[in-house]
Amino acid sequence: MLGSMRTLLIVFCLMLVACSSSPTVRAERDAVSESVRDPRTAGGESGFAWQTIGTSMRGAPIQAAEFGSGPTRVLIVGGIHGDEDEAIEAVEALRRHLVVFPPPARVLLVRDVNPDGSAAGTRGNSRGVDLNRNWPARSFRADGVHGPAPLSEVESRVLHAQIEQFAPNVMIVLHSARGGPFVNFDGPAGGLAERFAEAARATDARWRVQAEMGYATPGSLGSYIGIDRGLPILTIEFARGHEASLAKLALIDGVTATLEHAATSGR
Ligand SMILES: [Zn+2]
Repeated sequence: MLGSMRTLLIVFCLMLVACSSSPTVRAERDAVSESVRDPRTAGGESGFAWQTIGTSMRGAPIQAAEFGSGPTRVLIVGGIHGDEDEAIEAVEALRRHLVVFPPPARVLLVRDVNPDGSAAGTRGNSRGVDLNRNWPARSFRADGVHGPAPLSEVESRVLHAQIEQFAPNVMIVLHSARGGPFVNFDGPAGGLAERFAEAARATDARWRVQAEMGYATPGSLGSYIGIDRGLPILTIEFARGHEASLAKLALIDGVTATLEHAATSGR
């Protein structure tokens, strides 16, 4: 009798504890379901998490994740220009693909190196500097848009630190342009560019290699990595306003072909 009363008492106490803690529990649950509803933070794959590699001028996290294995190291950068939504959306699709299909190379995927620009829908960062003109290339020219000095911007320095640490054999940087879709390249990347465009044409026949951008790009990431450092770098230009599903598929096919080619050709 005493035993069953004690059991009842314990059950009652447990109920009391559950009820009294419910506001906190509810708040936590709401926070969790909020993050699950947000596709940028949720993802849906168990165990996946973006790592924070730095912070923007306005305090937003700059995130990255690593996939795959092998001697070849490929650094993929999404969202360097904040008004090119096509690139940022396609990164999410590529991430989901790389989680399910580990690539035959080490891939470091930087999600969005310009989160302040993305939030505001501006090409440059929160100081109005174009992060794709802020590199210590021989062609760098200081001005209001390029920045007062190479790597003057915190976001450029975050990406530069990743380049130094990860030491990529190949870089792929995502953009969008009105004249897209095409693949531009710097350094010894002609073969890789052809492989990307050929694979992407399975989704959209317009994909082509365009060796010249048609305008000067002083201090660009492409001129720093490709021309000054001699590393292959692809600049992927989705068509501005490109149907999102086409961009995503083209990126997945293009990156897969590029990674296979890089892994077998040793770069
Ligand atoms: Zn761009």
